Amino acid sequence: MTTLNCFRCDKVLESANPDREHNQPYAGTSFQAQGQYGSTVFDPNVWTPVTQLLVLNACDECLLQNKAQVLHATRTGEGVNYTYETWEPDITVEHWREWFHEQNEE
Ligand SMILES: [Zn+2]
Repeated sequence: MTTLNCFRCDKVLESANPDREHNQPYAGTSFQAQGQYGSTVFDPNVWTPVTQLLVLNACDECLLQNKAQVLHATRTGEGVNYTYETWEPDITVEHWREWFHEQNEE
């Protein structure tokens, strides 16, 4: 498996873990969906257990540029209860980019 490109801008994303063959982008985030009641294209998991997922990657730039369309969910206890707020990133992309390149230059 190779690392998927950004879903929005089609940027080629490097693997954050080149020694392993799985989709783990550097400077990007991988999202998984189990399906959605209401979707007209993907809702296969009517009954548990979950057997199918859709997976896509978004690069950090696209995520930050569109953060108004991203919700940050915080689990509020047992079960599936969450509170949802507008996402306010508390890290910078540049910080992690510098760290990654330092690690890979050695
Ligand atoms: Zn992008």
